[in-house]
Amino acid sequence: MSDLPKRLREQLASAFLPLETRVLRTDQAAEEGTAKLLVGLADGRAVECVVMREADRRTVCVSTQVGCAMGCVFCASGLAGVDRNLESHEIVEQFLHAQWTLGQQQRITHAVIMGMGEPLANLPNLLAALDTICSPESLGLSQRRITISTVGLPPAIRKLADRGVRFHLAVSLHAPNDHLRDQLVPVNRRFPIREVIAAADYFFARTGRQVTYEYVLLGGLNDRLEHAQQLADLLGRRPVHVNLIAYNPVAGLPYRTPTEHAVREFARYLKRRGIVVHVRKTKGRRIEAACGQLRLRHRDPATLAAAGAASSGGAGR
Ligand code: SAH
Repeated sequence: MSDLPKRLREQLASAFLPLETRVLRTDQAAEEGTAKLLVGLADGRAVECVVMREADRRTVCVSTQVGCAMGCVFCASGLAGVDRNLESHEIVEQFLHAQWTLGQQQRITHAVIMGMGEPLANLPNLLAALDTICSPESLGLSQRRITISTVGLPPAIRKLADRGVRFHLAVSLHAPNDHLRDQLVPVNRRFPIREVIAAADYFFARTGRQVTYEYVLLGGLNDRLEHAQQLADLLGRRPVHVNLIAYNPVAGLPYRTPTEHAVREFARYLKRRGIVVHVRKTKGRRIEAACGQLRLRHRDPATLAAAGAASSGGAGR
């Protein structure tokens, strides 16, 4: 705005920040086209955001909370509980940082709400942020290209369905029976599997959008054929998708990645039973791009500040 006096421009520049958040660190796994951003918040906390490039898609994965209260035993995000919900502008700004990382030639085409936190535990702020992101003046993403992933909170799933949204819903199941799910996903003790599935059925009935069940395969724990059988029995003839995800190991946790053989056999069994199965490719393991892993290494604020100063070039490690 060169038509403003220089002094006024200086005053404006020092009085206003264009954004409240900033990228403290960028890790790139160039050969996979994945970039992971550590996004610093105004209060000194940080969350993660991942950008994935594929042939004709650019998908961003955003966080909704600092930490997570759900306590799934294998996940890095919830190891220290939840600090707070993100404000809606803090969610929007992750999209903006991701878009700037991609540059002008490549637009974000899809979003997955699968970063840190439980999205349905911060529903009002998330919906406000997605309204912004979907508006034509902003990124203009359609709701159909946005997946909200939840640990499975039935009241919130029903509330979302009643709003007549067109988002894709993914439910993190991870176990085919309550006994095992109680151990892996503690919130199951409050909302057992049948209530989660009933809410997901309701979502499908109200929105017409098929639900995806996510199933993280943990070596030796939930990856045996008997589990695949129970899962197929549980889902029956529902028109659902199952996303199998090989566990991405978290330092300090005792869980293991399944063997390739176990993943293949699990998928094959479900397919034989008529279920649509996707085996999610592991991306960004080198840059520790699974939920909460990057922040875990950088939680100490002094380390955070140092990382911010050192990484402005965005070079990988
Ligand atoms: N709280 C939401 C969204 C965030 S987690 C939910 O539970 O769905 C997104 C997905 O990544 C969930 O299915 C989660 O269980 C899974 N996940 C968490 N840690 C993982 C890890 N180390 N390896 C593979 N998947 C992981």
